[in-house]
Amino acid sequence: MLQYCVKCVAPTSRPNLTLDAAGVCTACRNAEAKVVIDWVARRARLEEIFDRHRRSSDHEYDCIVPVSGGKDSIYQTHIAKNVFNMNPLCVSFRPLSRTLRGEQNLQALRDMGVDHIDFAPNPLGVNKITRRSFERFGDCSLVDHLAIYNIPPNVALKFHIPLVLWGENPYMEYGGDAASSEMTQLGRKYSRDHHIIKGMDTQKWVDETLPLREINSMIYPDDAAMQALGYEPIFLGYYLPWDARENLKVAQSHGFLPREEGPLMGLYNYADLDCMNIIIHHYFKWLKFGFNRVTDHASNEIRKGRMTREHAIELIRTFEGVKPPREYILAFCDQIGISEARFWDIAEQFRNHDIWKINDQGEWYIEGWIAGDKLPDRFEHCPISDEEHNYLSFRRGRK
Ligand SMILES: [Zn+2]
Repeated sequence: MLQYCVKCVAPTSRPNLTLDAAGVCTACRNAEAKVVIDWVARRARLEEIFDRHRRSSDHEYDCIVPVSGGKDSIYQTHIAKNVFNMNPLCVSFRPLSRTLRGEQNLQALRDMGVDHIDFAPNPLGVNKITRRSFERFGDCSLVDHLAIYNIPPNVALKFHIPLVLWGENPYMEYGGDAASSEMTQLGRKYSRDHHIIKGMDTQKWVDETLPLREINSMIYPDDAAMQALGYEPIFLGYYLPWDARENLKVAQSHGFLPREEGPLMGLYNYADLDCMNIIIHHYFKWLKFGFNRVTDHASNEIRKGRMTREHAIELIRTFEGVKPPREYILAFCDQIGISEARFWDIAEQFRNHDIWKINDQGEWYIEGWIAGDKLPDRFEHCPISDEEHNYLSFRRGRK
């Protein structure tokens, strides 16, 4: 049965989250610790790092900012370029499932006045790993993480740019053990050990039907070469206070667009809006762990002191567990070559029966759910806009 943090609404089913003797989760303890962090001292350390990496010539880049099409991408670029006067090279990986908003927000990012590499890995390799990881682990976004973690270090090596500016440390924000939460870098150890990778380096996916050359761009470079480069992939969130709402304000001042129709999942209409598959990825958390984005976002709001636990539970009862838009699911099925029926078969395979039980009416419910024992059917979701609908039709029509 699920157990919950007594301060926020995070369940112990979240990977890497534990409760202490007082019943408080690691993410809440991290949030408390943040209040007493000496941010002035940390900012000074960040300035030292920037000074060390700032090149004397405008001909060279000072750092890489890994970006997607989200608010944090614009915020990180703003910090580098406008606050610390660095000359960044922005690097994204181009997912096959990028949304219209993702494209628009990357344009807003470039319009800040930066160079940008939008790296598109070979779709044959991407789709083979995506289909296999979806069938094997119920995870449609595993390959995205291989790309996100591994493409920036490859670009760093090829362009001779040692400094990479990642955003927040997710363990710090959402819960992790002390060692993971205190990590200052997203380096080899972090990406290799992250649970989403399932302990499989990219090259472990190679077999007779998936040649190395189809996924070569997503293989971490040689360790000795990275050491010789002086690779320094830091979390900005370690050195600067990190708050989604503050980052949003900065991003909007640079043209970032949220979803006017509202969030597809969770409470923030400015999160998870650059990639269709991430919505499906989150939905599988609901089946595997019995929580989803409303729980994540409400927990974050509680930790920031902006929401009561009672209100959070009410929001979970009302909005948690909605399914992804059908158009997103159809686009995903097209992408990896499976039927919609097969998609839902796989989804059911990954429903965790330690958490989900069947009632007398034959309906699934989460035993010990924070918002009550019974669940309503949750098919409703925010509509996607006509503009995005047309964009999706265009993409599907290409095939
Ligand atoms: Zn908590």
